[in-house]
Amino acid sequence: MTLYVKKFGGSSVATPEKMKFIAQRVIRDKKENDKIVIVVSAMGDSTDNLLSLAKSAYSVSHGREMDMLLSTGEQVSISLLAMTFKSLGVEAISLTGEQAGISCTGTHGKALIKEINPSRIFQELELGKIVIVAGFQGIMDNGDIATLGRGGSDATAVALAGAMKADICEIFTDVNGVYSADPRWCPKAIKMEEITNIEMLEMARLGAGVMQPRSVEIGLHYHIPIHVRSTFSDEKGTIIQENCTMEGNHYVIKGVAQDTHAVRISVLNVKNVPGVAHKLFQTLANDHIDVDMIVQSVQTSDDSLTDMVFTISDTDLSDARQTLSKLQEDGLIDKVIYDENMAKVSIVGAGMLGTPGIAARMFGALSKAQVNILIVSTSEISVSCLINRDKVEAAVQAIHEEFFEETQLHM
Ligand code: ADP
Ligand code: ASP
Ligand code: MG
Repeated sequence: MTLYVKKFGGSSVATPEKMKFIAQRVIRDKKENDKIVIVVSAMGDSTDNLLSLAKSAYSVSHGREMDMLLSTGEQVSISLLAMTFKSLGVEAISLTGEQAGISCTGTHGKALIKEINPSRIFQELELGKIVIVAGFQGIMDNGDIATLGRGGSDATAVALAGAMKADICEIFTDVNGVYSADPRWCPKAIKMEEITNIEMLEMARLGAGVMQPRSVEIGLHYHIPIHVRSTFSDEKGTIIQENCTMEGNHYVIKGVAQDTHAVRISVLNVKNVPGVAHKLFQTLANDHIDVDMIVQSVQTSDDSLTDMVFTISDTDLSDARQTLSKLQEDGLIDKVIYDENMAKVSIVGAGMLGTPGIAARMFGALSKAQVNILIVSTSEISVSCLINRDKVEAAVQAIHEEFFEETQLHM
């Protein structure tokens, strides 16, 4: 018996015809004793459509009612997919996040899975059914529905696989696996056979939208191998796991990622004394705003004042504006400048540890493409540059060409 958790993303369940295709594929591949749990996202662009529906009518930020609205998208998919299986003569049942035993904590719009009690899922599997679970949602302690952040169905799938001790978690999507760059941006991107979950986590965190970062973290925690593959082909995809063989690893970096949702915030002329940075960033954290790159620059003319520059995601922008205007009213900070048209390009790979000159090659590629670098940040396995958003496509292509398309490979 093999226990599978198979997740199908929005583009894979976009139409009733695609649902039929998926159901037929699952039925074809299922061996007699296999147990199958399917996690689905909302159909096509329906989450985006629900978001714009709300935003066109109200100036709401994320909260309880928004989660109530967004979670309906996945409920449409689970019910239709269950009906599809039944019409093909196979027993199936749809379950909401709550019915599947998924409890959450944290804040609306980016809740975290706290615990899963999969007893109902096991009961239904024992009855011989295919169990179809709504991704992206769970239930808070007070009984309210919460959503897990964009791309959150990946987290549902990996967490369920972990809690149920599944043999494998398969993420079916509209590309053949994880590539050295987003294949929509770089036609010459190379598909990876495998990637470590540490590298995948860094790629995802830095914007490689093929997997939600939190889901990769959950996979790491539960030691669950994840197979990212295409819904529409039988080709083997990319395995995300703890240890990878070195075979086929010809490149010094693993991939290039971009995040086109960056906003730069410059807080000017703050007092250059202990405690100011703490107060500023603690207040942002209390309001659940994730801060990414941070630079503090001491002004040369006056040592007593400094500028704090940092980046956030545009999804947190309206909340950040509220938080910072409170701090302005309290007199902690003075002038704030918001630059919304920013992007971050990054290179990722454990191979750069102990290999000098990698950042220099990235900067060289950006300079050749006439891209100005605004902020640089590094981790042990990545280098990121903040740039203007209108240059991001050229930047990704130039960096990819430098590391993956040179005829003479730099090992
Ligand atoms: P789903 O609806 O199946 O969850 P997503 O749109 O969330 O699909 O993720 C798949 C998309 O991720 C691909 O269409 C691709 O454009 C994008 N993507 C970004 N970076 C990468 C990468 N490094 N490798 C593969 N796909 C990537
Ligand atoms: N439907 C949600 C979204 O669009 C969750 C997901 O697709 O994973 O973000
Ligand atoms: Mg996704």
